[in-house]
Amino acid sequence: MKEDYPRTILELEERFSTEEACREYLMRLRWPNGFVCPRCQATKGWSAARGQVICRACRYQASVTAGTVFQDTRKPLRMWFRAIWHVTSQKNGVSAVSVQQALGLGSYLTAWTWLHKLRRAMVRPGRDRLQGRVEVDETQIGGDEKDAQGKRTGPKVLVGIAAEEDGSTMGRIRMARISSKSRASLHCFVQRTVEPGSVVHTDGRQAYLGLENLGYQHEVTVLLGQEPEAAIRLLPRVHRVAALLKRWLLGTHQGAVSVEHLDYYLDEFTFRFNRRKSRSRGKLFYRLLQQAVRVEPSPYKSMVGGKIHEPDDHNI
Ligand SMILES: [Zn+2]
Repeated sequence: MKEDYPRTILELEERFSTEEACREYLMRLRWPNGFVCPRCQATKGWSAARGQVICRACRYQASVTAGTVFQDTRKPLRMWFRAIWHVTSQKNGVSAVSVQQALGLGSYLTAWTWLHKLRRAMVRPGRDRLQGRVEVDETQIGGDEKDAQGKRTGPKVLVGIAAEEDGSTMGRIRMARISSKSRASLHCFVQRTVEPGSVVHTDGRQAYLGLENLGYQHEVTVLLGQEPEAAIRLLPRVHRVAALLKRWLLGTHQGAVSVEHLDYYLDEFTFRFNRRKSRSRGKLFYRLLQQAVRVEPSPYKSMVGGKIHEPDDHNI
C-alpha cells in the first residue's frame, strides 16, 4: 500500500468523517495485500456490515478491529482517529488530561486508557535490534524528589539505554527497564536490543564484561577522573538520550509517571525519538495507526503491572 495519509487536520476531518471511511482505511492497513482469513488463511472474502469480512472458505466472520487496540471499543473510530492525530501532531506528546479535553471525553480514565493502548502500539512487534556501533549505558529515573528535610524519596528505577553511533550523530535508540546493574540484567538488555556482530561500546563497568561470548565486539572506554563531565564525553549519545528522557518526563508528564507504567512512556519516547527527523506529522499518524492494527488488544487489567522480560526478573 502506498503511504497515504492526511497532511493536515482539515484533511483528517474531511477524509475520516464517517465510521465507514475509518474502517475502510483500517482494512487497507491491516490487510495491505488483500484480505487474509485469521482462522484459515484463505484470501477470499465477502464484505459484510460493520467492517466485517466473511471468509469464503470457512465462513469465519473476521472483524477489522478484532485483535487490535480498537477491539471492543464502544467509542466511534472517528474519535480514535482524532486521538491518534492529537497524540502524533504534538512534538512532545500529550498527557491524558490534554486528550480528554481535546476530544471532550467525559472520563479521565478513558483518556488515560486510550493513551496507554496507543503507547503499546508504538513499539512495533518484532522490531529490529540496533546495529553497527552502539553505545550502551544505564541510568536512574526517579528518586530525585526530596521531603521537607531534604531527604531523597520516591521510587528509583533503572533504565538501560542503547543508541546507535552514526558518525558524530545518533541513529536509532532502544530503552528498557532493567532490574539491576548485575551482569545477567545488563547482558540480557544488550541481547534484547542489539544485533549480534555489532560493536557494543560501554564504560568500564565489570558487569559488561563477557559480551564477546554472546557474539558481540565489546569496546570499553574507561572513565578517568570522577567529574560527571568525563562520563558525558565518553558516551555522549546515551547521556543525551537520558537527559532528554528525564526532561520529557518532567515536562510533558510533570514527573507524574508511576513506576509500573514507565515501560509505556519509554516506548512513546523511543517512538518519537526514532522519528524525530520526520517532518511530516501525518506520517507519524499513519505509522501509529498501522501499528495499532497489528498488535493484540490490551485490556485495562493487563496494563497495570508493567512488563519486564528478564530471566532474573523481580519487582521493583
Ligand atoms: Zn477462513
